[in-house]
Amino acid sequence: MSEENRPPCPTCQGKKIIEGVCEVSSEWSGTQEDTDDMQCTPDQVCPTCKGKGYEE
Ligand SMILES: [Zn+2]
Repeated sequence: MSEENRPPCPTCQGKKIIEGVCEVSSEWSGTQEDTDDMQCTPDQVCPTCKGKGYEE
């Protein structure tokens, strides 16, 4: 009954992972119409709660 009594981790909202994000580089050199300037980071274990989903 008191198992889920902890507040969720504020960093990952209790999801235990940080979802990867994709960003488009704003460096427009103007040489080619290259739209491959998207940089994505993979999902990673939340460094705050270390995958627990809540803070100790
Ligand atoms: Zn977390």
